[in-house]
Amino acid sequence: MSVDYLRPDERKADRFHDECGVFGVFGDSEAANLTYLGLHGLQHRGQESAGIVSCHENRLYAHRAMGLVSDVFNADVLENLPGTQAIGHVRYSTAGSSNLRNCQPFAVDYARGSLVVAHNGTLTNAKELTSDLESLGSLFHSTSDTEIFLHLLAHNREGSLTSRLERLIKDVKGAFSLLVMTRAGMAAVRDPYGFRPLVIGRLRDATVFASETCALDLIGAEYVRDVEPGEIVEVDSKGLRSRQTSPPTHPVRQCIFEHVYFARPDSRIFGQNVYQCRKMMGRILARESAPEGGADLVIPVPDSGVGAANGYAQELNIPFEMGLIRSHYVGRTFIEPAQSIRHFGVKLKLTAVREEIEGRRVVVVDDSLIRGTTSRKIIAMLRQNGAKEVHVRISCPPTISPCYFGIDTPTHAELIAANRSVEEICEFLKADSLAYLSEEGLHQAVKDAGGPADNVRRYCNACFTKDYPVKPPNGSV
Ligand code: AMP
Repeated sequence: MSVDYLRPDERKADRFHDECGVFGVFGDSEAANLTYLGLHGLQHRGQESAGIVSCHENRLYAHRAMGLVSDVFNADVLENLPGTQAIGHVRYSTAGSSNLRNCQPFAVDYARGSLVVAHNGTLTNAKELTSDLESLGSLFHSTSDTEIFLHLLAHNREGSLTSRLERLIKDVKGAFSLLVMTRAGMAAVRDPYGFRPLVIGRLRDATVFASETCALDLIGAEYVRDVEPGEIVEVDSKGLRSRQTSPPTHPVRQCIFEHVYFARPDSRIFGQNVYQCRKMMGRILARESAPEGGADLVIPVPDSGVGAANGYAQELNIPFEMGLIRSHYVGRTFIEPAQSIRHFGVKLKLTAVREEIEGRRVVVVDDSLIRGTTSRKIIAMLRQNGAKEVHVRISCPPTISPCYFGIDTPTHAELIAANRSVEEICEFLKADSLAYLSEEGLHQAVKDAGGPADNVRRYCNACFTKDYPVKPPNGSV
């Protein structure tokens, strides 16, 4: 196993943020094994690296590596992660920061014992905190903003873990759903806005924490409740304790894009089933923008567009078909044949079912348009397979602004909707028509799918509105 060292330019660069999933078990003799399974359930939240740290008789045991959960862990590795508590992490990083040094969970032994941290989210004041901590003598080992939590907790030596976590919540800005493990127990913390999800589960006598409920389902754990925005939930041999650090008036801004794209459809996110939300987005999209001349077929871009396409088809009573088939076995790199094949990259992932498409007026539904490049190729592929018309429907509003709170979106310059009108995008895609779900429609969908009456105020929509609940890092916008 080789770990490379920071180049000076990397050390000075902004701390990188990642899309991630976290999972933890306290109080089960198979803690690492269960964590491994939980990470499997969260694999969609990060496919570049995975790690587990367990604790047994006051000693930490760690394994982290690049790759999918099933590649990183096997029976022998798990055998060497003993103990009744463990936390794990899956991660997808932005380009440039994918290396072993940034694999989580991060673990240190220091004057007061051991600290292990796994984090989902992005800190907006990472640069300032890093330079403050470096001036106090902290030596950073990674380029991930997660390391800041370790240094802040280690520097702040006074008081219990709870009081140090309270202080931490005040010091860091941005999005964090965090698991912290010590030799004595575990804590789960969600930032006061509640950007990213985090839930509590129970399996026999064990307490489980997970980014999404689908990971609880996989190990047969019962969903207890969400960790609330601003809440610290701690568990140790004395049991479970909670401390709410935010006043009830503090705004909550949960990420609406978890419902649109990121979370798994079988999960309950922020108290609501994701698939049902997506189906409702499709229904409302259909009410807002049925194709003028009608259509013969609704097809999803699998997998992310399936829920919305289903709702769209149901609302307009148009047949729903899987006109595109997704390969689930695509690796990272492929050697292209010397003689170039049209749309090779997309074809590896998606292929069209000509028999369903030929001669038909097709509505193709996807959850979002980011750069527009994949969609353009999909539309060309549908036409190549004989589609008479191709109408594109997107089950969220135009993505006009990057996320600074834990979703990996490209820069403003690369976001197609930030730079072109809907008509121009339609032209770029070479579609017969294009429509997005309206912002009101999106909020109505979440509400109609069983969400709270005041849900508009409970969500962060900054990627659609530029209305950032927390100021983005200096110089970002
Ligand atoms: P594009 O061709 O760049 O517009 O890509 C659109 C596709 O990217 C849609 O099918 C989305 O489901 C997917 N997508 C949206 N957000 C993300 C993300 N953060 N990471 C990876 N894929 C995404």
